[in-house]
Amino acid sequence: MSIIEQNWEDIKESIRDEYEIMKVAYKIWLEPLQYYKEEGKKVYVRVPKKELLEYVQKNYKKFFDETLSTLMQEKYKVEFVVDEDMDQEVAETVSSSFESNLIQKYRFDNFVVGSNNSLAHSAALHVAENPGKDFNPLFIYGGSGLGKTHLMTAIGHYIMENSKLRVLYVTSEEFTNEVINSIRNGNTAAMAELRDKYRNIDVLLVDDIQFIIGKVQTQEEFFHTFNTLQNNNKAVIITSDKHPSHMKDLEERFRTRFLSGLLVDIQPPVYETRMAILKKFAETNKKFLPDQIIDYIASNIKSNVRELEGAFNKVYAEGMLKNNNNINDISLDQAKEILKDSISKDKPTIISPQYILEMVADYYHIDTDDITSKKRNADIVLPRQVFMYLCREMTDVTLAHVATILDKKDHSTIIHGCNKIDEEIKINNQLKESIEAIKNRIYSQ
Ligand code: ADP
Ligand code: MG
Repeated sequence: MSIIEQNWEDIKESIRDEYEIMKVAYKIWLEPLQYYKEEGKKVYVRVPKKELLEYVQKNYKKFFDETLSTLMQEKYKVEFVVDEDMDQEVAETVSSSFESNLIQKYRFDNFVVGSNNSLAHSAALHVAENPGKDFNPLFIYGGSGLGKTHLMTAIGHYIMENSKLRVLYVTSEEFTNEVINSIRNGNTAAMAELRDKYRNIDVLLVDDIQFIIGKVQTQEEFFHTFNTLQNNNKAVIITSDKHPSHMKDLEERFRTRFLSGLLVDIQPPVYETRMAILKKFAETNKKFLPDQIIDYIASNIKSNVRELEGAFNKVYAEGMLKNNNNINDISLDQAKEILKDSISKDKPTIISPQYILEMVADYYHIDTDDITSKKRNADIVLPRQVFMYLCREMTDVTLAHVATILDKKDHSTIIHGCNKIDEEIKINNQLKESIEAIKNRIYSQ
């Protein structure tokens, strides 16, 4: 046993005393660090969890280097490594995602299906089963952080695991860079190579297509790639932040092509789906928070799943710190305090029926009083039903409460109104888009 290994616990404690490290910090970051091995003047130290690595490196490496050098009277350095099984996990991710470029963790089995994404999900499953046959291209659109990349990647994994087809994922920015680089290389060989690469695959996933707008040469390349693939019945799956009809400055030839496939949207998830997503997230990442806290997060962060998960992580990390690593001790007040900035930023969380009323009236150019009145003309009845529907979709108020706002005796009228819209948007694209536009306005306030 080396001197360092023998004195490992003392070394950590002397670092604690010498640099006046707080007890909580010591418990969380330093105590779990284990001596691993030495190679010359390098000491390898084991970090039990990947999550701790960056923090430990940034904050404590210097202390270890100094303390060890003093002890050994020679210049020593530490190197932090994560536990072996962790290492392996990382290595696996890298090797199997190498060719296709797919992010490993986005799969169908951890994608939560809710009313906000069920159509997109079924379409994705269908394309995964029948790539290039129907729905080509599949065009998935929706706001940021709502699961487009996740769903698209899941299709890619599924196809790779169930066929020999060659799948390639690329963001439109990466594609742009590749085009620029081959142009810069200035030879036709570079460009030919690029074309070869993209035109000889079976499934192309292009993420965030909106970024190619206005990039003339990239658009040109993409257009030909797209046509070649489509003509050969190779699957193309595209994501975008908007419906092609709402993408400003998108060239007409693209619009026509995109509209020829299947277009599906992803909306912000409702409360139940947000809860389910957080629970799944907790399970996948083996991080657990008390139900009451999850409920608080799900009730307050509504418009973006990425932020929802971010809030979960933040509460978890800071909650651990504040409670001496016993996350079950975290109180609701602590969670509120930890999230106060994130939640006030996510303003649209406090979507009130009153606010929806105003936005609907504004959209249809009528008065809010018209909506709450007893008028029965068609140009009022529809906005009124849209209002009911959006209250159900976007707020947590009861339908009985919505009935009161509309001066109805009971909430059966509200249920009827919501059902009406549910049915109608299945067949009426224009209404569907109107509702989406109103939602977007509400969320972007
Ligand atoms: P987008 O591409 O639409 O901006 P992402 O696909 O990157 O969004 O999703 C953001 C985060 O939210 C990812 O971590 C993703 O796994 C997660 N996420 C989004 N929707 C779901 C869902 N329905 N189920 C599980 N996780 C989801
Ligand atoms: Mg994305």
